[in-house]
Amino acid sequence: MPALLELDHVGLSYHTLAGEIPALSQISFSIQEGEFVSLVGPSGCGKSTVLNLIAGLLTPEQGQITLQGLPREHSVLSIGYMLQKDHLFEWLTIYENVLLGLEIQKKKSKKAVAHVDRLLQEYGLWNFRSSHPSQLSGGMRQRIVLAIALAGNPEILFADEPTTALDVTIQAQILDLLREIQKKLGTATVFVTHDLGVVARI
Ligand code: ADP
Ligand code: MG
Repeated sequence: MPALLELDHVGLSYHTLAGEIPALSQISFSIQEGEFVSLVGPSGCGKSTVLNLIAGLLTPEQGQITLQGLPREHSVLSIGYMLQKDHLFEWLTIYENVLLGLEIQKKKSKKAVAHVDRLLQEYGLWNFRSSHPSQLSGGMRQRIVLAIALAGNPEILFADEPTTALDVTIQAQILDLLREIQKKLGTATVFVTHDLGVVARI
């Protein structure tokens, strides 16, 4: 069976007015279904670029990316994305943010809404659905983002430094939740961090 995703000697430079910025060169690795993988390296080494390439937001200049054996452009693999900054809108309620999040991802089906409702209940957030993001803690906000990312039952979850802005106790809670999701739902997870201390706690 082909790997869930495979990078084969992938390279990319950013072409800016100030010149060419080499971001990645000769990157090869693969991830199997249901695996939990950490991508660790200092800031600026190209971690987010790797995720954006896999997600199809960028196109590699060298090498190949295949998802379940298919080239990126032919793949129907669904990816959930969780970022360091939560991008919740302060003037919307939590629930309005959730619905908008689904709409932006073009995943607002009855099934997806029901799934997010269940996740919000499971994560202890349902009673806060009429609150605004500023009324919630950083950890709660990240759990909402996670629920939105999982709405469409993605095969892969990308978590790009989701705990960097949080204190250590909350970091541990989010990490536990990510591990639980991977075990319970079988979602392959790519966890990105520049913090080796976080990796030691996984
Ligand atoms: P990381 O996520 O590991 O911090 P990035 O993938 O964001 O690293 O960035 C890798 C390199 O590419 C860095 O040198 C960064 O400055 C550069 N870079 C990232 N995004 C852009 C962009 N949109 N335009 C130009 N350079 C970029
Ligand atoms: Mg980054």
